[in-house]
Amino acid sequence: MGTKERYESTAAEVARECASAGRDAGDVVLIAVSKTVGPEEVECAIRAGARDFGENRPDQLVMKADLFPDVNWHFIGNIQSRRIKDIVGRATLIHSLFEERHALKIDAVAAQKGIVQDVLLEVNVSGEESKSGLSPSQVAHMLDACASLEHVRVRGLMTMAPRGGGQTVDATFEGLAELRDELRSSMPRDRADVFTELSMGMSEDWPQAVRDGATMVRIGRAIFSDDF
Ligand SMILES: *Cc1c(COP(=O)(O)O)cnc(C)c1O
Repeated sequence: MGTKERYESTAAEVARECASAGRDAGDVVLIAVSKTVGPEEVECAIRAGARDFGENRPDQLVMKADLFPDVNWHFIGNIQSRRIKDIVGRATLIHSLFEERHALKIDAVAAQKGIVQDVLLEVNVSGEESKSGLSPSQVAHMLDACASLEHVRVRGLMTMAPRGGGQTVDATFEGLAELRDELRSSMPRDRADVFTELSMGMSEDWPQAVRDGATMVRIGRAIFSDDF
């Protein structure tokens, strides 16, 4: 199988998993994480119907988003202050915001460009030390900080599950979904209306994420690697 076939079969599996979870296939965006491949493979995925791609390095995001401006580019990597100017505007959605100083800088750059940047807040639900993100108890404060920024719009939450599958993975995804619902219920209406997204699930655990309410899954190896 090549990239085209792997993308098509992954998209079909996501649709099947949605159906069996009683959800609409259109409720879950499949993000093809193209961080390990070049433009040729991106083009194959586009030909197979891919419209959303994820990158974790600013250089790759810039290169590929400029080559393929008609699809959506998601920034899912570590944010560095000096690269924010390259990410803002190119990224349809920044998934990995968790520092207030970065929110301020994203706001300033977006203001300069005359846009509103959509972001997700990254949450370290499982509490593993190796993972970045806000602890669940810090999210409300970060949301308040972002609420005063006119050029940043928080669309939801993102997390990474611990490796190895099983119950801790479900607990992580369920925890993120509960946190979103809880925060959403105490927000003003206009903010709650757009605070809907749950970016969770990767090649190894995305079916669980779909069952737990993911609205976006980020799949790399299952699409772009021939030995996954
Ligand atoms: C690489 C990456 C993915 C995709 O991981 P796979 O295991 O290749 O599906 C998803 N999310 C983030 C944040 C990543 O860095």
